[in-house]
Amino acid sequence: RPRVLSGIQPTADSFHFGNYLGALRQWVDLQRDHQPFFFIADLHAITVEQDPKVLRERTLRAAAQLLAMGIDPARSAIFVQSQVPEHAQLGWVLQCLTGFGEARRMTQFKDKSAKGGEGAASVGLFTYPVLQAADILLYRPHFVPVGEDQRQHLELTRDLAQRFNHRYKKTFRLPEPYILKATAKIADLQDPTSKMSKSASSPAGIIEMLDQPSVSAKKIRSAVTDSDGEIRFDVENKPGISNLLTIYSALTGETITALEEQYAGRGYGDLKKDLAEVVVGFVTPFRERTLELLDDQAHLSAVLKSGAEQAREVAQATLRDVYQRVGFVAPG
Ligand code: ATP
Ligand code: MG
Repeated sequence: RPRVLSGIQPTADSFHFGNYLGALRQWVDLQRDHQPFFFIADLHAITVEQDPKVLRERTLRAAAQLLAMGIDPARSAIFVQSQVPEHAQLGWVLQCLTGFGEARRMTQFKDKSAKGGEGAASVGLFTYPVLQAADILLYRPHFVPVGEDQRQHLELTRDLAQRFNHRYKKTFRLPEPYILKATAKIADLQDPTSKMSKSASSPAGIIEMLDQPSVSAKKIRSAVTDSDGEIRFDVENKPGISNLLTIYSALTGETITALEEQYAGRGYGDLKKDLAEVVVGFVTPFRERTLELLDDQAHLSAVLKSGAEQAREVAQATLRDVYQRVGFVAPG
């Protein structure tokens, strides 16, 4: 079975609809006929300052949410990144293969360091795409299911894999991004030309998977739209309405065209009210299931421990090859 690998940062109390529709839903689907490795990226989370207690809590909440949405530990290795030290170890080797200018071109760094200025950003934030390349290459996956914002990092990953293979010996598989076009960039409800983001969006701009359902409904009803009054999919000119249609279509399976027909001649209020109901129907059971799972921390820890063991077996083998090829003397 082809391998897949992906990760998500524990940088908020809840995942949001961008994470779910852009990536996590594909994780669940790919389990059926792939061999998946899914991890919670706590090493990436500390590229910006984190409160240790909160980080620990969010890591467990992340695990509970992944299980609640249908990640099955019998099919997928689900683990915490810091429990598999090979990620950081391969990360270093790849940093030494990455050009400074190459790292500088990563737009995520530009976006994420924009607020405080480059001088305030950590070196970790600058090099995190290289650690991400290590996260991926360790498992030699065929596919990496992610949202559109990660496409550039996937290209860097392929470049680094190719460089290593060329300089030493063929070691890494060149992974393909697995990006579903329709839901690859879910927009912020309040700022529909930006992506919905755990760390950059305002609370009103994010639909959180673990919000009280009534709160999610209210956020949808207050989403920013436009003044033209027609319900039509047009990302350029009508980003707010297009985003609502995208979410609606993804949750119900109805096509965008069918929705446009259904809402022809009707007001934005109708669309928002109906979508709010769809969202409430979706998040209510998800929230209950996650809270239940969070009550059993012993179970969560056991799942993560077993996931880390499965991941380590693969990661150790890859790192052993890498160290040998780079010229490190093997112990003993
Ligand atoms: P942060 O703001 O802390 O970077 P994030 O919301 O971008 O958080 P990540 O943990 O960085 O979330 O990303 C997890 C996955 O979700 C990645 O595959 C990413 O591409 C995807 N993703 C994130 N935001 C969106 C979005 N708005 N639309 C589609 N996919 C998204
Ligand atoms: Mg992100």
